[in-house]
Amino acid sequence: MLSFRFLILCLASAFTIGTSQKPKPAATAEPGITFDWVHVDGPYVAMTFDDGPSAKLTPKLLDLLAAHHIKATFFLIGENVAENPELVAREAREGHEIANHSWSHPNLAKMSDDGVRSQLRRTEDAIKSASSNRPTLLRPPYGSISPRQKKWINRDFGYKIILWDVDPFDWKRPGPNVVCNRIVRNTRAGSIILAHDIHPGTIEAMPCVLNQLEAKGFKFVTVSELIAMQTPIPPKPSASPKSAGPRSTSPSPTPHD
Ligand SMILES: [Zn+2]
Repeated sequence: MLSFRFLILCLASAFTIGTSQKPKPAATAEPGITFDWVHVDGPYVAMTFDDGPSAKLTPKLLDLLAAHHIKATFFLIGENVAENPELVAREAREGHEIANHSWSHPNLAKMSDDGVRSQLRRTEDAIKSASSNRPTLLRPPYGSISPRQKKWINRDFGYKIILWDVDPFDWKRPGPNVVCNRIVRNTRAGSIILAHDIHPGTIEAMPCVLNQLEAKGFKFVTVSELIAMQTPIPPKPSASPKSAGPRSTSPSPTPHD
């Protein structure tokens, strides 16, 4: 009798999960919501640029990306979208992915839900008005966001939360050679590379970055394309079931973006 009741309970909960959530394995707390890299079968990586668009620097970057036939992902600040809508339109027209990076770059983890909602909504509306594209990705400023916020933002906005696994600390302006070397040394298949198209040294570093990563055989896709290529991590006999988490050899994302 007890085991029969247990069976019924299991069936009931399985039915609830099956109908209320996406058909993903419920192995992690946030299945399919947050990414700092993606497990892929192939030399694919995503270049991402935060905090723009910049009237002075973004056009140079777009020229370079076009010359290399590379699609990147831009995490835009709503205030800058409102100032440079024509650049957002160009980014979208040239096949880049446009994503949400908040309206004014606050620390979302310290804000009220209403405040966060306003930051994301205003930015999404500005992006839609400039490019007719609806963003599906959010990168929280400083990578700062709580697990609870991730869940409701994913539920209400449909956003995936995108962090990174390669950080050249270009915002500290260490010089183009250092930025290039840090990116090239740390990029692996499935990497999400963080950079900012608001710093001149970052733009100066990009010819080196793109040439050297191409020479190593990497191919560039947008973040959504990278996620669409995701393949399961094969289980290792000695590995724990948590091996689906971030790569153990990779440092955790640092709180700067
Ligand atoms: Zn940022």
